[in-house]
Amino acid sequence: MTSTKNQENSPKGLAPIEIANGIETADGFRGDLFDIVIIGAGPVGLYGAYYGGFRGKKIAVVDSLSVVGGQIAALYPEKKIYDVAGFTQILGRELVDGLYRQALRYNPTFFLGESVVGRRFNEEDRIHTFETATGREINAKAALISGGVGTFTPKPLPAAKGFSGEGVSYFIPNPRELAAMDVVVVGGGDSAVDYALMLEPIASSVTIIHRRSDFRAHQASVRELFASSVEVITDAEVTSLLGVERLEKVEITKGNDVTYRSCDRIVAALGFNANVASIKSLGIEVVDNRHIPVNTKMETNVDGIYAAGDIATYEGKVKLIAVGFGEAATAINNAVAKIDPREHLAPGHSSDT
Ligand SMILES: Cc1cc2nc3c(=O)[nH]c(=O)nc-3n(C[C@H](O)[C@H](O)[C@H](O)COP(=O)(O)OP(=O)(O)OC[C@H]3O[C@@H](n4cnc5c(N)ncnc54)[C@H](O)[C@@H]3O)c2cc1C
Repeated sequence: MTSTKNQENSPKGLAPIEIANGIETADGFRGDLFDIVIIGAGPVGLYGAYYGGFRGKKIAVVDSLSVVGGQIAALYPEKKIYDVAGFTQILGRELVDGLYRQALRYNPTFFLGESVVGRRFNEEDRIHTFETATGREINAKAALISGGVGTFTPKPLPAAKGFSGEGVSYFIPNPRELAAMDVVVVGGGDSAVDYALMLEPIASSVTIIHRRSDFRAHQASVRELFASSVEVITDAEVTSLLGVERLEKVEITKGNDVTYRSCDRIVAALGFNANVASIKSLGIEVVDNRHIPVNTKMETNVDGIYAAGDIATYEGKVKLIAVGFGEAATAINNAVAKIDPREHLAPGHSSDT
């Protein structure tokens, strides 16, 4: 099986992941049979990928985003998280980086930038075939659905429509990549303000452009923004991107004034659309329009299909990363025992290996 770097497989406009070296998608993939396919590369899916590898299984991980990390990568990579076991505090992107490296230990196959949109089942071979929106088919004996709040799609920057050069990002997995660049961040929420503050000490210049006068971000972050060297332009919009092969300038419109500013990279932090429609098309029971009911083994109503993390529901469910980790371990160990009855449910201690 040949593989290509994720960058070549990324949806247009999304930055390739660089939180760790070596992430690959499987462009040369030709219908290999996986033991377990994990749908959703958020924190829960990534931990499930580690666990499946630890159990000696061949794992595929699919995500509609071009980066791993789910809600953390999309919404709060720069926020500190205080309630993950074993860390007094950890930055969102550092947690994702750790989970990703932990999963990589057993070389799972990643299919990023691909939404799973359908499933069929071969009764004779007991194989599930998952179809992605690009037409790819992924075969597996079992599946873990860790789809969170559904497929995440960045809200597009209207001015980027028709601009085909490089220089538009919706994620910044590796801030160092923007060193010495003139950066324009667009948006007024937490992600935009966090990105501007994160890039301020790294980039050559940072400008934040927000179409309203008030920021929706955390007050302390907004105070920090105004005290920083970030140039803040409110009641304004980026109306055009200029450059041929790569971005060189942006056009900014504020009322009747139109100005131009040098820009090597524009970071669009306008939020994300979450959509569970594709999960609903997998033929698995969904309640409240967005949750998959599971039993204590994390089994769904379909044999061989498990769910964990924000998307899984049962009485007393608490939606937290810490809870999702336990659910992923339970789901994967039960899936392993299901697809090969000679295997034990209990994984043994990782410290013994
Ligand atoms: C601002 C904010 C702060 C938070 N702070 C904390 C905190 O401090 N502590 C804490 O424990 N929790 C916190 N949370 C909640 C935490 O982020 C979630 O509980 C966690 O991300 C759930 O992980 P997950 O892997 O189940 O789902 P997600 O992180 O939502 O990941 C699911 C992934 O599945 C993908 N996907 C969905 N459907 C498909 C499909 N059909 N095909 C392909 N891919 C698909 C999505 O693209 C996504 O990447 C916070 C949430 C937010 C929004």
